[in-house]
Amino acid sequence: MIHFRLLAVSLFAIVLAGTAACRTPAVAPDLTRFEFERPQMGVPFRITFYAETAARADAAAAAAFARVAALNASLSDYEEDSEITRLSKTAGSGRAVPVAADLWNVLAAAQKLSARSAGAFDVTVRPLVQVWRRARRQREMPSLDRLAAARDVTGYQHLELDARHHTATLKLPGMQLDLGGIAKGYAADEALKTLRAHGITRALVAVAGDMTAGDAPPGKAGWRVEVPSLDVPGAPPAQFVLLANAALSTSGDLFQRLELGGKRYSHIIDPRSGRPVTDHSLVTLIARDCTTADSLATAVSVLGPEAGLALVRRTRGAEARVHSQPEEKFHTVETAGFRRFLEAP
Ligand code: ADP
Ligand code: MG
Repeated sequence: MIHFRLLAVSLFAIVLAGTAACRTPAVAPDLTRFEFERPQMGVPFRITFYAETAARADAAAAAAFARVAALNASLSDYEEDSEITRLSKTAGSGRAVPVAADLWNVLAAAQKLSARSAGAFDVTVRPLVQVWRRARRQREMPSLDRLAAARDVTGYQHLELDARHHTATLKLPGMQLDLGGIAKGYAADEALKTLRAHGITRALVAVAGDMTAGDAPPGKAGWRVEVPSLDVPGAPPAQFVLLANAALSTSGDLFQRLELGGKRYSHIIDPRSGRPVTDHSLVTLIARDCTTADSLATAVSVLGPEAGLALVRRTRGAEARVHSQPEEKFHTVETAGFRRFLEAP
């Protein structure tokens, strides 16, 4: 999990300049910092924001968590009765299944990224994810048969979306969808939107390694977020990013991995080979929204530094840095604008 530290805060008073002549200038409200945390989607979901009263803060936080709980019930492949699980069960039936707005948004974004990343990002990867999760539990390599069977039913081109009717068709029997590489980012975006609908703009939503920021805290340039470094000797120290109206995701095998025969396997699968990514790397991705940051970070983990950054450069508003240690030597590459987000040393 990513650590993030917020600046020391007390009570802030901001003066709202009265612009409309007919209005009496607003009285400067005292903004108080509030922080809420609840387990959601299997991880701690943390919401931090500034509000005028505790009552408004409680109402906004409750609405945001309710929105995330509803999304989890729709998008989680861990839930037997979620919309995504039910959709997976129609694989091979030939049916075009109507999907609700949120699932549609996520699937449409996922398929777009699959095409842009030449299949590096692929939500049909679940059969392979399952094979490798089992391998991790049993501490033994999967059989070639099992791997081949999972590969046969993986491939985003077998998931057909109809944009006119908002339906999805899983064309091969046995196909299964996994939104683990994109759903947390979407949920973070939606939580931020919910806060905004409650009049709260100075907010940060953090879901493990995925976070999205609205306006900065009063008087600050952005939310101060720590980006971790690679856990190897010689790696540079962790740094801070100032985030406002942007999202940041980290992806890598730093926190979840399988070690077999002295080799480290990530929980991220390269759908093209059917095998987990083995480059020990850490991707920090900044984008305009967290759906993009989360999914693109996963794609970059698969593609590796060179092809990964090329994809980021083709994405408006996105910047990235990749730490990796393919062999002995520590290696960092980043896009030209990444440093703009770093806090001055
Ligand atoms: P985390 O947030 O856990 O660091 P990511 O956001 O990078 O990880 O997503 C990893 C998850 O995405 C995996 O646990 C799996 O559910 C799913 N996944 C694995 N490989 C891919 C892939 N190539 N494309 C899309 N999703 C993937
Ligand atoms: Mg992610």
